[in-house]
This record gives sequence, C-alpha cells and structure tokens, in this order.
Amino acid sequence: MIAKTSAPKKQRKQGMLDNVMRQFDNAADIIGLNPNIRKILEVTNNELVVHFPVRMDDGEVEIFTGYRVQHNNSLGPYKGGLRYHPTVDIDAARALAMWMTWKTSLAGLPYGGAKGGIQLDPTKYSDAELERITRRFTYALGDNIGPELDIPAPDVNTNPQTMAWILDTFMSTKSPSERSTNMHVVTGKPIGAGGSQGRDRATGYGVFLSIKFWAEHKNIDLKDKKFTVQGFGNVGYWAAHFLEQEGAIMTAVQDAYGSIVNEEGISVENLLEYTKANKGSIVGFAKARSIDNSEFFGLDCDICIPAALGNQITEKNASKIKAYLIAEGANGPTDVKAEQILLEKGVEIIPDILCNSGGVIGSYFEWLQNRNGEIWQLEEVMAKLEKKLRESFNKVMETSKKRNVDLRSAAFIIAIERLEEAYVQRGIFP
Ligand code: GLU
Repeated sequence: MIAKTSAPKKQRKQGMLDNVMRQFDNAADIIGLNPNIRKILEVTNNELVVHFPVRMDDGEVEIFTGYRVQHNNSLGPYKGGLRYHPTVDIDAARALAMWMTWKTSLAGLPYGGAKGGIQLDPTKYSDAELERITRRFTYALGDNIGPELDIPAPDVNTNPQTMAWILDTFMSTKSPSERSTNMHVVTGKPIGAGGSQGRDRATGYGVFLSIKFWAEHKNIDLKDKKFTVQGFGNVGYWAAHFLEQEGAIMTAVQDAYGSIVNEEGISVENLLEYTKANKGSIVGFAKARSIDNSEFFGLDCDICIPAALGNQITEKNASKIKAYLIAEGANGPTDVKAEQILLEKGVEIIPDILCNSGGVIGSYFEWLQNRNGEIWQLEEVMAKLEKKLRESFNKVMETSKKRNVDLRSAAFIIAIERLEEAYVQRGIFP
C-alpha cells in the first residue's frame, strides 16, 4: 500500500512544482474550475519513495533512492516516464507527474499522469551497474506499477534498454502463464522486446510537427529558419533531424557538457555521429565554435527548442531571447516569470504538454499494439501520430483565440476541462 499524501502549498519550494501549480492555478481561475475538483487536482494521489541496495562492480553495496508519484488516474491508468538524474526528488516527481496528467488529458488519451526515477548521475555507473540498479528499482516498485495500473516509459537518461530491463524484471516476478500478458507494463521498449516502430522518434517528431503546424498557421516558411537546441538527446536530436529535412538550419546546440555555435549551420547527422564517438558529448565538434553556456539563450535565431531539463528559461535570461518561437521539447523548461517576460515581448511558446506530447502518444500506440497482439508499420504509426497531434494543436489554437489567452493557458484549459467533466459525470466515491 502506498500512502495518500499531498504537496501542501506552503511547503512548496521555488522550482518545477511551484511552476506547474501556478500554471494550473492560472487556467483553473480562467475557467472558474469547480472548487472541489480543484482540491482533488491540486494534490497527488499516491507517492512512493523506495530505498534499495545494489551491489557495485567493486563489490561494495550502494543504497539508491527511487520515486514514483501517481498524480491522477481519473481518465485511465497512470502514465509517465522514469528519469535518472541528480535533480530527481519528490517535488520534481510531483511536478512532472502533474504535467503528465495535463499532457495525456490534452492529447485525448485514456491515461492519467505519473512520473518517477532515481536520484543519480548515470555517467558515474557502468552498464552492468545501471542494469542491476534498474532491476532492483523495478522489484522495489513491485505491483505499484502494472500494464493497467501505472505504465512507465523513458525520460531523461533512460532509454529502450532501461525499459527492456524493467519489462524483463517485472515479467520474471509473474507466473509463466501471466508473463506475456504484461508486455505493456512499460512503453518505449526496443522493437525486439515488444516496442513499437516510431516510438524512438515520436517525441522529437511531435516537437517538429508542432513547429510546422505553428508555422503554417502563421504563414511562415521553415526553409532557412535558424533554430537552436538545448539538449541533444533523443528529443533534441529527432526534432533537429526533421527540421533540417524541412530546410531549417541548426545554428547552436547546448548539452550537459557545453555549448557550440555556427551561424552557417551545424549538420545534425554529423553532430550525432560525433557525439556517438565522444561519450555522448557535443563539446569539441570541429565545425562549430565553443561558447560560454550563459550565451546560449541570447543567440540570434528564429526558433529555440529547450529539450533538456526544467527551469532553464528564467527571469535571468528571458529578456535576452531573440527567437520569436519557443518550442518546449522538455517538461517545464520555462518558468512562470520568464513566460510573462516573453509573452510581453511577443515571443510565442508552444507549451510542453502539447509540444512534447508525441512521446506519450507514441507510447499509447505501443501499449495498444501489445494489448491487442498487433504490429503496426512505421508509416502507420507516424500518420496516426500526426493526426492526433494536429487535432490537439487545432484545439489549442481555437481555445487560445476564443478565450484570448496564450497557448499554455489554452492547453491547460482543455486538459482541465476534460478532467472536470469526468469528475462531474462520475461523482466522488462513496
Ligand atoms: N517521458 C515522456 C514524457 O515526459 C514520455 C512519457 C510516456 O511515454 O509515458 O512525456
């Protein structure tokens, strides 16, 4: 059993949790959300913190702390990623779980929201250690996750391999006859282990599509438009890949190790090749020059794609931003104060819960295939993803126009109204 706890307002630190709560309050105020439903959505349903021992390669035992926060499941099973990062703590998991609830609701999926992970720096561990850490974490989560209960997926520093270890561990704890019915306990698996075609690129493709739809809406041709990317992981790379195919030019990239710029353009594929041979880092790429990290957000460009961590665009750098569009590949990259500055400057922001929702939509398709014993082709997955994302995008645009609000407020309004309707129709037990 996991305890029902909450994130009381007065205990909130400045950070992602404060940010998501302010975003929620703003939209709830605009629609005059039923106060009782507001009370429910302001808190998380369940919060699990686990401490577990793992044997390291040198024979010593290390204790790790893992989290899984389940925010809301009124629309379906809890859904959301697991991240491995030093910044993972209970407040980060709460904030990210809440964003998942709004994201899945906005996307019209039959899911709720959850998030979790382990507080660690994965670069400090060997692959064998990461495997044991992942398997032991999965075991500690036990039946608090499950294919119809709570379905994890990749997030920062986790990948299809991580999901395969989770799947294998979870299945191994079930009786033989039940094993194959648990394939959809995680999504974002490798294709050979029940994954779906297209899930690898789904988030980045969704970021690209959001930008494309926005540009179409504004009558802007993406050809020769300059874009910068923060984070050259799965999301940043695939978004850049599709933008480059459309004729846009990547002029700067920042990752955990440093920042590089070339106004003439940085080849997305060349940079990917380079990072593969350079322990994942962009630093030292020959066809670009290094700049100080603090210069990154002030660089000249049309589109800026934060695709790394939360709270990257703040009061400190917002006024320096020259892009006219920010496409949020990451969750919570822009804080509320920065957003105000940007909106006053006329910068538009495609909010995370829309912009990066391609990932969880792709996860939904994987989950459906596992559940129904189907295997879909890549083209089919991509076409379905585009259709779903276009629907969400159009809804956000319409709501923004109708209510005369920014895109984030519009996205939150749609997400919250869907949840409100579910509560109104079903009532509160008992
Ligand atoms: N971690 C991704 C996100 O933040 C994907 C979640 C999922 O596919 O469940 O949206």
